[in-house]
This record gives sequence, C-alpha cells and structure tokens, in this order.
Amino acid sequence: MATWDVIVVGGGHAGVEAAAAAARMGARTLLVTHDPSTIGVMSCNPAIGGLGKGHLVREIDALDGIMGRAIDRAGIHFRVLNQSKGPAVRGPRAQADRKLYRDAIQELVAEQPNLSVQAEAVGDLILRSDGSCGGVITEAGAEVAAAATVLTTGTFLGGLIHCGETRIAAGRVGEAPALALSKTLRRLGFRLARLKTGTPPRLDGGTIDWSGLEEQRGDNPPVPFSVLTEKVPQPQISCYLTGTTPEAHDLIRQNIHRSPMYSGQIESVGPRYCPSIEDKVVRFGERSRHQIFLEPEGLDDPTVYPNGISTSLPEEVQRELLTHIPGLERARILRPGYAIEYDHVDPRELRRSLETRRIPGLFLAGQINGTTGYEEAGAQGLMAGINAALGAGRGAADTPWAPPAAFDRAEAYIGVMIDDLVTRGVTEPYRMFTSRAEYRLRLRADNADQRLTEKGIALGCVGAERRRAHEAKMIELDEARRLARELKATPRRLEKLGLKVAQDGVWRSVHDLLRYPEIDLARLAPVWPELSSLSPAIVEQIEIDGRYAGYLERQEGDVLAFRRDEALAFADDFDFASVSGLSNEIRETLCRARPETLGAAARLSGMTPAALILLLRHVKRQGKPGGGDHHEGHAA
Ligand code: FAD
Repeated sequence: MATWDVIVVGGGHAGVEAAAAAARMGARTLLVTHDPSTIGVMSCNPAIGGLGKGHLVREIDALDGIMGRAIDRAGIHFRVLNQSKGPAVRGPRAQADRKLYRDAIQELVAEQPNLSVQAEAVGDLILRSDGSCGGVITEAGAEVAAAATVLTTGTFLGGLIHCGETRIAAGRVGEAPALALSKTLRRLGFRLARLKTGTPPRLDGGTIDWSGLEEQRGDNPPVPFSVLTEKVPQPQISCYLTGTTPEAHDLIRQNIHRSPMYSGQIESVGPRYCPSIEDKVVRFGERSRHQIFLEPEGLDDPTVYPNGISTSLPEEVQRELLTHIPGLERARILRPGYAIEYDHVDPRELRRSLETRRIPGLFLAGQINGTTGYEEAGAQGLMAGINAALGAGRGAADTPWAPPAAFDRAEAYIGVMIDDLVTRGVTEPYRMFTSRAEYRLRLRADNADQRLTEKGIALGCVGAERRRAHEAKMIELDEARRLARELKATPRRLEKLGLKVAQDGVWRSVHDLLRYPEIDLARLAPVWPELSSLSPAIVEQIEIDGRYAGYLERQEGDVLAFRRDEALAFADDFDFASVSGLSNEIRETLCRARPETLGAAARLSGMTPAALILLLRHVKRQGKPGGGDHHEGHAA
C-alpha cells in the first residue's frame, strides 16, 4: 500500500491550492480526483476576485498559492471594483478565458515538485485503530495511505441537478456525483446538510445583437493579482451590459411554479447574495430591471456568460425569457442554466486548522464546508494543505509556530472566513464580503503580502522566487517609509510651494502631509525630488500609509483588546456542559460550536456578557494563556 504524507481528494479550487501548498511545504502529496482533465475547471462564472473575494486571492498569492498567478496568465478583462472608494474596500477582479485558466492551473500543478495526480473516485476513508484518518479507499476498493487527508469535494457530495422538472444526479453538469463518500461521512457521524447554488444559461455570442448595448472596458493598464506577475499577457476585451424588462419579469412570475425552488422540488437554501433571477423577481417585486453583464468566456470561444440570470426554470422558459432581454432576443442557448443541491458538512465540526474534531488527520476545505465561490474554496484549501503538511511533520524546520497555522481576524480575510465558519457555522452558502472584516482598514488587498508573506516563509509554504521578490520589495518599502518620515519642511516653505497648511511653525513630514486628502506624492516631489525615483507600487503604499495612519492608530486599541480575548484558549477537552450558571440554550450553542477561545465564544450568536464572565472564570482557572497548545495558538 503506497504511503503519502498528504492526500488531497478533489481537483477543484480548494483541492489544487491544498495539494500545491502541501507540496510546497515539502510533503509528498497525492491529488486524487475523478478526472484530472477537469482540474482547475470553473464550474460557474469565468471570473476570479471581486469585493472581498479579491482580497482572498491576494492573500492566497501572498502565501505563494497558485490562483493569482493562474488568473494573471488567463485574465482577459481586469477591473478593480470600488475604485472610487477607499483602498480597504477596493476589490480586484478579472474575467478569465475559461480554457486558459484551466490550462494555467494544470501547468502550475504539473510544475510543482512533490505533487502527483491520480484519477480515482474516493468512496471511503481508512480509519486507524486510534480513530484517526490513515488515508482513503477508492470506489474500486484500493487503499491509499497517508499521514493526513484533505477532502475538497465541492458540489459533488450527493449532488442533484435541477432544470425545471428534470432532476439528474450529478456533481456538475455531465459529471457523476460523489454518493459513496457522502454516505461515508454520514456513517462516521458528521453533521451534513443540503445547500444549493445555480448557474445561468450559456449563450452563443454570435447570436447576440451587441449594437445597442453599453460597453464596459477593463482597466488600462490591467493590474495583475500576483506580485510575481510583471505584465498581464493576454489581450484585453470588453464586456457589455443589458438588463431584464417588465415583460421578462411577467414571464418569470407566470412560470414560477415550474422553478424547482418554488415548486417545492428544492428545499435547501441558496446564496442570498447571488440569487437566481426568479428569486430576484419575487424578492424585489418593485424593481422593473435587473442588470445583466454579458461576459465572454474566452478569446476564441463564442460562449457568453450572462452574469445575473442564474436560473433553474425549464429550458423552454429560459429560451422565451431571452426574447424579452435587449440584445438577447435571438440569442441561442448553448447550455441551459440549472441549480444544484449538494451535501455539505457543518463547519463547526472543524478546528481553525480545518482539521475535523471527529477524525484527527482528516481536513475539509472548500464548498464541502458550506462556502460558495472559487476564492473562498482556494483560501481554505491553502490553509488545509499547510496544516495537513504540518500534521505530517513537514514545513519549515525553523518555523517559530507550532501547528496549527491559522490567521486571526485582525491578520487576514482568510482568518475572518475560517473563524466565521468554525464558530458560527452556515445557514446559507457563505461568501466573503469586506463587511465581514471588522479590522478591514488593516486587511487591504494592497498589503496582503506585507501581512502574510513573511509568515508564509516561516511556515515553509513560500518558494525561493517569491521569497527573493518579497525581501527586495520590503527593503525598498522600508527605505521609502524611512524617507517619508524623515523628509520634513516648515509650514512657510510648504506654503511657498503652494501647499496650504496651518502656519503653526510645526515641521511636517511627507508621511504627515499625506493625511491631507488633496496631497499625494506627485505634489510633494517638487519639494523633495528624491520621491520621484520611487516605483509606482511603493508610491501607492506610502500614500495609503499616510492617509490611513490616523484611522489605523485608533484601531490599534480594538485589535489589542480582541487579541487579549483570543489568547484566552479553552483546553481541547474543556467541558462546556459542566459550566454552571449558563442557560440551556447557551450551553447547547457552546457544545455545538466548541469555540477555541473566549473571543470566539463572544462571537457566537445569542452569547451574553454574563455567560462570557462565567466562561472567563473557567478559562482563567485552567491557567492556560493562549499559544503553545495544539488547539489554541494562532500559529501565524
Ligand atoms: P469544486 O470546484 O466543485 O471541485 C470539486 C472537485 O472534487 C472536482 O474536481 C471533483 O471531480 C472532485 N471530487 C468530488 N468528489 C470526489 C470523489 N469522491 N473522489 C474524487 N474526486 C472527487 N460560486 C460563486 O461564487 N458564485 C456562483 O454563482 C456559483 N454558482 C455555481 C453554480 C454551479 C452550478 C456550481 C456547480 C457551482 C457554483 N459556484 C458558484 C461555486 C463554485 O463553483 C464553487 O464554490 C467552487 O468551485 C468550489 O470549489 P471546490 O474546490 O470546493 O469544489
């Protein structure tokens, strides 16, 4: 029986990041997936990033993950969303040429040392006598042993596709579902629930009348996701905007009983923030138009993705619906839209390392944990891969962090997401938003590398090329920061140069002056010519540093208080049921969620200050400050 350090099941967005991260950590890694030719396939929209999601991609990149590099190779329309707002809420996004994206992921997987790929359907797990996971058993009955196993099965567990009255058991259109593995997880006692998601019909771009539609261009020049990408290689194309009409809405209302979500055929919950068109028409009855972005799926592919009309109405209704949408009146459907229901595991079954509590050595990442989206999946995959490798004894020899590797809510969106999942669980598919991060002024897409790359180096998941690039950038940035604080001028001198500041005799540095909204480095360069030699990326950082300095200083106190509570960790075997004085409801919530820290307990819904004081007494009595113990340190 072959023995691996890490086995990753599933070649989707979580699986490839998990496998690549484990391999970068030096773990001998096997990626087992139904069909290796589908590795890196985008199940739904051909785009990466967006609000909140773009932050996750930058964080994945900062830890040397592959999503950012792949989208840079395959992106055909880059746009930073919320460009007019502050840097903290800007969301880099890029549409991909779907085939080029898949190819880029497959190339990056193939290039990765320590990583092998095998086509297999996994149906069961090897359980050791101590109850831990010792690898997987394929549906054909072969055993493959590993020190740690990561499941990233996406929408495949018990997958069931709905299109009107038609139902097909499938993981994605044309691909078989994972039924045996779903049964295995149930048998092992995991709490499973059903969720649903949907996708719009794909259209033949040659049959769309583009003439009257509003064009939307990408940014020029396109800004890549990865710090390792110097220039985006693909030609950039436009997308176009259209929208639904009152006639389209009437048609949907007339046929609503044929939509599986409204006929009772689907009972599970879908993503509230990415609703189907029938959902939008029912929920926002007063609106007469919903926007549709027509996104080409490739440079030499006629397929167009109509972003905004995800639907599971019968195919003939979908066809008629298009006749009421400007530009799409004669559009031909290449593949009808559909909804899919699937099993997910209650993420409160997981530790912050994404290891299951029930079966040590078994990690879960991606849509299986109740999330939706490639970026959410990729970010979890990366963390599960790192922790699986650490569990298998791999990673940097000199890492100052004992396992598990986890980021807290003040360090990374990855930390926010994983904390939300394992603490609060999900009632609908979870997707990332900037509003989920309470310390978002610190957690910007532009500073992901400054927040995380050094930690990645210490953990052992960052390769030599990025390490060199990062160290060089940090030397340049530190030097520029020093300059920004040291270069100072009197108010009189600044006034002579046309800068309006109070004539109070106080010398002001470049850093101080950047707090004024109308001042940027270009305006200060005539005063201090040495500023003109800074590279654009460094200029951006210095300007953001100055603008945000006051806000960040004020937030520092909140972060310290947050970290104090995070450092108060419950012992792994802490018996929440034994804490007297708690209401039954709170006791039940605690037993189910098993928060790892007092801070996490405070974030549970229904928690009261009185209950927290009781818990605080217990946690102090344990005499266990945070860090050091397997379950408690935020390692990185
Ligand atoms: P997936 O990308 O689903 O990959 C799972 C992988 O595991 C596949 O390679 C599969 O072959 C493999 N696998 C599964 N079971 C086994 C097994 N037993 N043995 C071996 N291999 C196995 N996201 C959005 O953000 N917005 C949307 O609007 C949206 N709509 C969607 C619509 C549809 C119809 C679908 C299917 C997905 C949609 N998504 C959407 C979700 C997005 O595609 C997923 O969130 C993302 O792909 C999840 O990544 P993953 O790695 O967890 O799983």
